[in-house]
Amino acid sequence: MNNPAEKQLLLASPRGFCAGVRRAVAIVEEVLQRRPDKPVYVFHEIVHNTKVVQDFTARGVIFVNSIAEIPAGEVVIFSAHGVSKEVENEAGKRGLTVIDATCPLVSALHSEAIKKTAAGEFLVLIGHPEHPETIGTLGRIADQQMAAVAETAEDVKKLNPPPGCRISALTQTTLNNTAIAPVLEEMQKRFGDITLSNRRCYATENRQNAVKMIAEQSELVLIIGSKHSSNSRELCKVAQNAGCEAILIDSPDEIPFERLESISTIGLSAGASAPPELVDNTLRILSRKGFSATIEVGSKIENVTFPLPQTLSEL
Ligand code: SF4
Repeated sequence: MNNPAEKQLLLASPRGFCAGVRRAVAIVEEVLQRRPDKPVYVFHEIVHNTKVVQDFTARGVIFVNSIAEIPAGEVVIFSAHGVSKEVENEAGKRGLTVIDATCPLVSALHSEAIKKTAAGEFLVLIGHPEHPETIGTLGRIADQQMAAVAETAEDVKKLNPPPGCRISALTQTTLNNTAIAPVLEEMQKRFGDITLSNRRCYATENRQNAVKMIAEQSELVLIIGSKHSSNSRELCKVAQNAGCEAILIDSPDEIPFERLESISTIGLSAGASAPPELVDNTLRILSRKGFSATIEVGSKIENVTFPLPQTLSEL
């Protein structure tokens, strides 16, 4: 058995909450404060994290997956992933007051998708078809014949763009470049000259770079994040692509304790939707298990902030 004193923990930097998630969580906090004792509805999970959603639910926030579930005239917050035009219209028809927590970087993705398709380009959205960001972005495009989602190279083979259109590609914000590459390659093979707009966001890129660094020096990497969090899953894939075993844990309860005995260097990071207290608790537990020598790896400083929406002041 290793001497516990020799065990080290490589802590990825940056990790955890990004600016878009911080803003979305702050918006729900603000609405709760401004509407005490009144219902607060959120369309879709505000961010993809079990703890964040459970904590807000315990404080009375009602998460819904359909606008029809919200009584007319109430307040609804759109999640950080953004929504389709149809959802926005439905909310308008029900007379809901909308507070939009869509990350500004996702809104920029919407604008680009609208602009490209309006200019007659056929848009291939590289992303997970079932993810709300992809659904929302696709649902912003007026002519649905002008866009499609491709997650894999196989999906590209099935695309059916109108003849004579220029083909362009736009990526989901949380993907990793290793997943994007084969899709792009197939697009170039099939369509020749295409335009790519890689919208992988700053937070995704920084977290993935730091995870790659810790994975190269660790025997096991733990990523704190929920199973349905795209960016957390991608962090796992980045570590695995760097040749290291990686496990996604929703909370410290899921630490694979039986594995720790045989490991002398462990890596730790957290997805952009995982709250800091989960990281702190995991660090405390790992320290008690002998991983007391913590070294931060990456150290990229992030100072991105997004202002809260003006509409909050109307509540
Ligand atoms: S991961 Fe990127 S796009 Fe998604 S909320 Fe965070 S900053 Fe915005």
